[in-house]
Amino acid sequence: MLSPARIGIVLSQLTTFVHVDHKKEQYATPSQLAADFVYAARGDIEGKTVLDLGAGTGMLALGAALLGGNVTVVDSDENALAILKENEVRIAQQYDITPLTYIHGDVTTLSLPTCDTVIMNPPFGTKHKHIDALFLTTAFKLTNTVWTMHKASTEKFIRNLALEHGFSSVWYKRADFTIGRTHTAHTKPKKKIDVSLFCFSRT
Ligand code: SAH
Repeated sequence: MLSPARIGIVLSQLTTFVHVDHKKEQYATPSQLAADFVYAARGDIEGKTVLDLGAGTGMLALGAALLGGNVTVVDSDENALAILKENEVRIAQQYDITPLTYIHGDVTTLSLPTCDTVIMNPPFGTKHKHIDALFLTTAFKLTNTVWTMHKASTEKFIRNLALEHGFSSVWYKRADFTIGRTHTAHTKPKKKIDVSLFCFSRT
């Protein structure tokens, strides 16, 4: 199995969002954070069916593929999925990964397949109110295990939402999410977002 450091290096070489759609809250997860997150989830990834909701350019999806997951990606942005495909092709030249399955559409309205594990860094709900909750409730319908990232300020709300759906947190970590490189709307070159990472499991 690849080390988190190796996965971080591979993910750091991926192409990220080219034309950022701010309404869709497109922030690529920083590569090493993505690597550490998928590595923490490895027991729920290797040899399992994995769904990445709002997969973007593939930071989590390709990290999961590198750990032996059979990964399906969903995103409403065709351009992001095209970049993800290029990233997949590049990784597949060097690593033995199961080809990804692509679904283009809106996570909140699509009829999606069930899976062993959902892994996601969804929109945080800063532009589209409650989109984070919609992603999470969708995930709870499709699986028993959800690895997910949220804005730390929404942590209580997220935990309560999970409880209402019969899920509880079995793994948790706080992290800094530094963005800026891809987001021209931010005046400062870098912005730190305090994020809460969870694994929710059906109780
Ligand atoms: N998970 C990726 C991208 C996070 S950004 C990563 O960790 O790097 C959030 C992603 O959700 C973007 O790619 C955006 O296009 C997608 N998205 C936003 N709203 C969506 C919706 N309603 N349905 C599907 N995808 C959506």
